Amino acid sequence: MATGELENFSCLLVDDDPFMLKALSKMLESIGIQGIIQTDNAQDALKYLANRNNHIDIVISDLNMPNMDGIQLLRHFGSLGMSFSVILVSGEDPRLLESVKSLGEQQKLNILGTLNKPVRKDDLEAMVKLHNPIGKQAPNGPAAMVFADELQRAIMNDELEVFFQPQVAIDDGHIVGIEALARWNHPEKGWIPPGIFIGIAEKYNMIGDLTDSIFQKSISEAAHLRSLGFDITVSVNFSAQVLCVLELPEILSETIQSSGLESSHVVIEVTESSLAQDMNITLDILTRMRLKGFGLSIDDFGTGFSSLEQLKQIPFTELKIDRSFVHQAAENRASRAILESSIDLAQKLNIECVAEGVETEADWKLVEELGCDIVQGYYTAKPMAARDFITWAKEYGLQRNVQDTTPK
Ligand code: C2E
Ligand code: MG
Ligand code: MG
Repeated sequence: MATGELENFSCLLVDDDPFMLKALSKMLESIGIQGIIQTDNAQDALKYLANRNNHIDIVISDLNMPNMDGIQLLRHFGSLGMSFSVILVSGEDPRLLESVKSLGEQQKLNILGTLNKPVRKDDLEAMVKLHNPIGKQAPNGPAAMVFADELQRAIMNDELEVFFQPQVAIDDGHIVGIEALARWNHPEKGWIPPGIFIGIAEKYNMIGDLTDSIFQKSISEAAHLRSLGFDITVSVNFSAQVLCVLELPEILSETIQSSGLESSHVVIEVTESSLAQDMNITLDILTRMRLKGFGLSIDDFGTGFSSLEQLKQIPFTELKIDRSFVHQAAENRASRAILESSIDLAQKLNIECVAEGVETEADWKLVEELGCDIVQGYYTAKPMAARDFITWAKEYGLQRNVQDTTPK
């Protein structure tokens, strides 16, 4: 998103705590948002929103308020239509926040996400930027069709980029892999997060071409890095739709044959929720991928349904714990329990365990203490363009004195 666009955003803050209202306003101002309306109760917020002359892009609301709580407020939002997005803020258990988010989504509300108190400016900014007036409209609306057309062109013109986020071993910190994450630098809107365009690509049957493009770029980058001496794997995300193509294992094998990589250098990441449909075909495809030597990772572990059943059926080589159970798990009993059990499960199944979303030293220490193998998160590095990876890895190697990860 172009920074200029933020100036035109209008945000409505709803919180009974005057200190919180002030703090959130300051943060929004500092990221360039000029239109900020504050209310200290849900009733006033609803009154403001119900007035057709008032335009609000994003409502940022506390969950716990006297008279009307955040859940009741969401119910009222449902009846106001979907022209604004919602961010929920609370000092409550993150799991409660997640449940409220699901409730809001069931009511077809545009929930951008949930933030725990104390709110960090970077998190607020990233979430605000998720509000995309076009990308977030009803998936069949005319604006979404224009957006889909643009995405189609971007895929065809090879304009999608791949960023890479390092994965490091927890025992000595050496770089063991990179995860490939799709990026779209839209000519007018700036960077659009995958959370938005992947959904559109799935909806409009472009996900096959998109995955193909991202896979090829990831493979050639990983082959290049390996040729420089990096002993790393590359992980690529696969959506449910592409896991319906029966020839996929053969197609992937052919792609890597010409690159110089081996299948064991490639990890296919699938999310639990994407596994819910067409289980027979998916199982066939994933099992043949494994037979061909590819690694298989169950991504966002803990967030989907029947994950244990899937762990039993599918020959996963890696379990990747969702970041909602990792970041700040030391301070949250439920997150910590889920994190601990997931790591324990991976150990008992004798598969690799990756903790996603390790943002702080405290996060790192906890996953280390619990016996996780691999870490991925902002504490080590944010996703970066391929051209920045080598420089980053050299500096990282020097800092940690891990010489084996620097190129020859
Ligand atoms: P994911 O596969 O679970 O990827 C990890 C996401 O967590 C990435 O977000 C990454 O930037 C973010 N992340 C990593 N460490 C941290 C941390 O310490 N703190 C925080 N707050 N976030 C962290 P990103 O790049 O926005 O991607 C979001 C999702 O979009 C991915 O989640 C994946 O499900 C999907 N996606 C991205 N690229 C592709 C793709 O090529 N194909 C498909 N099908 N999906 C993709
Ligand atoms: Mg992933
Ligand atoms: Mg994940």
